[in-house]
Amino acid sequence: MPVTDTALRRLHEILLQVADIRGQIERGPKQIKAAQGQLQIARDALAQCKEAIKQKRMEGDRKQLLQREREAKLYEWQGKLNAANNNREYQAVKDQIAADTQANSVLSDEILEILESIDALQAKSVELEAKLKVVESDTAKTESRIQERLVVLKQELARVEGELKAEEAKIPADFEDTYRRLVDSRAEEAFAPLDDKSCGGCNTGLTLKLIDQLRMGTPALCSSCGCLIYRPG
Ligand SMILES: [Zn+2]
Repeated sequence: MPVTDTALRRLHEILLQVADIRGQIERGPKQIKAAQGQLQIARDALAQCKEAIKQKRMEGDRKQLLQREREAKLYEWQGKLNAANNNREYQAVKDQIAADTQANSVLSDEILEILESIDALQAKSVELEAKLKVVESDTAKTESRIQERLVVLKQELARVEGELKAEEAKIPADFEDTYRRLVDSRAEEAFAPLDDKSCGGCNTGLTLKLIDQLRMGTPALCSSCGCLIYRPG
C-alpha cells in the first residue's frame, strides 16, 4: 500500500511543528545571552565612568598638592625678598615670585577645570546607575520569561514528538525506507505541498504525468529539488 497524501500531509505538518518548536527552544538561550550582553555593556559604562572620576580626582589632588607646595615656597620667597641685601638679589627674588605666582594661577585654572569635569562625570554616573538598574530589571524579566517559555516549549515538543511517533507508526512498510531516508537527510524540508502546478519546495513546474499522479492522491518526488510532493488539503 503506497503512502497517501493525507498521511504525508499530516506527517509534514507535524515535522514543521517539531522544527518550529526546536527553533524557538534554540533561540531561547541566544536571547538570554543577548540580554546579558546589554547588561554587561551598561555595567562596563558605569565602571568606566567611576574609573574616570577616580583618575580625575587623583589628578586634581596632585595639582592641589603642587599648588600648596608653591604657595609655601612663595611664602619663603617673600621672606627672602624682605631680607634681600642688594637690588640684584631683590630683583631675582621678585622675578621668581612673579614666575611662581603665574604658574600657580595657571594651576588654579587647571584645578577648576578638573573639578568641573568631575561634576559632569558624577552627573553622568548617576544617569548610568539609573540606566543600569533599568537594564538589570529588564534582563531579569527577560530571563525568567524565556525560562518559563522554555519549560512550555519543551512540554510542547514532547507532545508533538509523541504525535509524530504515532503518525510514523502508521507509515506503510514499503514507504518506511524512503521516509526515513528523506527525514534523516532533510527533516521537514524533505516534503512540500503541490502549489498549483509547481513544487511547493522549489517552485519548479511539474510534468503533467506527475500532476496526474499527485491528483490521484499518490505523493511524488520533485525531479528538481528531490522533495516528496503531496496534494495540499
Ligand atoms: Zn522541487
